[in-house]
Amino acid sequence: MGFLYRSTRNADETATASEAILKGLASDGGLFVPDEIPALDVSLKELSKMTYREVAFEVMKLMLTDFTDEELRYCINNAYDSKFDNELIVPVKYHHNAYIAELFHGKTIAFKDMALSILPYLMTTAARKNNIKNEIVILTATSGDTGKAALAGFADVPGTKIAVFYPKNGVSPIQEKQMVTEKGKNTFVAGITGNFDDAQTGVKQIFNNTELAKELDEKGFQFSSANSINIGRLVPQIVYYVYSYTRLIAAGTINEGDKINVVVPTGNFGNILAAYYASLMGIPVDRFICASNDNKVLYDFFTTGTYDRNREFILTSSPSMDILISSNLERLIYRLAGNSAEDNAEFMKQLSETGKYTITDEMKKNLFHFYGNFATSEEVAETIRKVYDEDGYVLDTHTAVAVNVFDKYRAETGDTTPTIIASTASPYKFTRSVMTAIDPAYDAKGDFELVDELEKISATPVPKAIEEIRTAEVIHNTVCDKEDMVKVVKNFLGI
Ligand SMILES: *Cc1c(COP(=O)(O)O)cnc(C)c1O
Repeated sequence: MGFLYRSTRNADETATASEAILKGLASDGGLFVPDEIPALDVSLKELSKMTYREVAFEVMKLMLTDFTDEELRYCINNAYDSKFDNELIVPVKYHHNAYIAELFHGKTIAFKDMALSILPYLMTTAARKNNIKNEIVILTATSGDTGKAALAGFADVPGTKIAVFYPKNGVSPIQEKQMVTEKGKNTFVAGITGNFDDAQTGVKQIFNNTELAKELDEKGFQFSSANSINIGRLVPQIVYYVYSYTRLIAAGTINEGDKINVVVPTGNFGNILAAYYASLMGIPVDRFICASNDNKVLYDFFTTGTYDRNREFILTSSPSMDILISSNLERLIYRLAGNSAEDNAEFMKQLSETGKYTITDEMKKNLFHFYGNFATSEEVAETIRKVYDEDGYVLDTHTAVAVNVFDKYRAETGDTTPTIIASTASPYKFTRSVMTAIDPAYDAKGDFELVDELEKISATPVPKAIEEIRTAEVIHNTVCDKEDMVKVVKNFLGI
């Protein structure tokens, strides 16, 4: 039965892949990391002839070592089907001198769908494999997109309930409407009076609350996480890097083995970490270009070696990246520290006590392949307008952060390596910011008028996800303080 997963903070805490998916977070607050990252066992050339589902199987069977082939195929086939509005699942398009991997063709039109369409299947399969009788309660903090994608994935899935917390004033109007109109009978949504980091910290505290876990267990419930700390999110995200790279081979743009760069608009560091794992599995990536918005902790970290969250939290036009504590960075730190749980635990202790830590020079040297930069909301607007003027292609605000940083990287380095840009959301999700970037006069219009205007100028039909919420009624209207999160969760579960 293959390798195990291990906590980044305690080398003695291990789990099988299915146990790690069920638990989400290790009991010491650490993240589960694989003991090995296996190399792909089919050639990139062969992969280039496969469909998305087939590529997903080849990647996931290596990482989720205790799932049978039948179990994996069941999960994959149910996840990547006609819920996606493009039969390629991830179309890769050439615009602005780069290959844009559109990761937003799923049910909620953000890249979170790539993992959250499959997570419920992985989770319920894992529960069956481990003879779990409890109902699984998914607890999720969201900066805007995970929330709806997780709700859509888990809605009415037998044996599960899901609670989502979002920053009340920190998401786009469309994002909020998508969440609060969720109809699933097993769902609960609350806005909190705080920012994403408050929501994420609150959820992590609930996970680490052993007394509460005990009480839940007695009542027949157990918590799990749909956040990107769950390896059940990370592993499916590796797939689209393998897929996108091999599409470039299929198109004759690159030869098997040629190096590429990737640019990833980053918040919690999950998406870019998946790209890094894909490279460890055999995708030749030269530079990982980490694009931040004004909350540029990662840019500062890559340039100085110090991670410092002591700073003002800035609300930007790319709200899904408004994050100061990038949870998944811990997995990279652990690796840079030579897979030392002890060293990593010390850095994380400093982070929680003082809000910062500095890695050693030795560790910093191994960051060579990472490049960080950032784009302000003004630069994002300029980039949206510029790319639209070039060929009519409309970027969302998050992808525009990536494109802006890509331009900066090229100007600085002259590097012309073929580049894949992860496009993480449909512009329809951030219509106000996108349309006013193209022409400030649009600001006078209502949210759904802007949707119709976007359809006119982009020649892409309004996605179903948006049509559905036009007239949908608000079902969830809870707003709470972060101190009250435990109380509202218990209330939701009726305990
Ligand atoms: C979540 C999200 C991101 C950030 O991804 P991470 O994995 O948290 O780094 C970027 N763009 C959009 C649209 C998102 O929803």
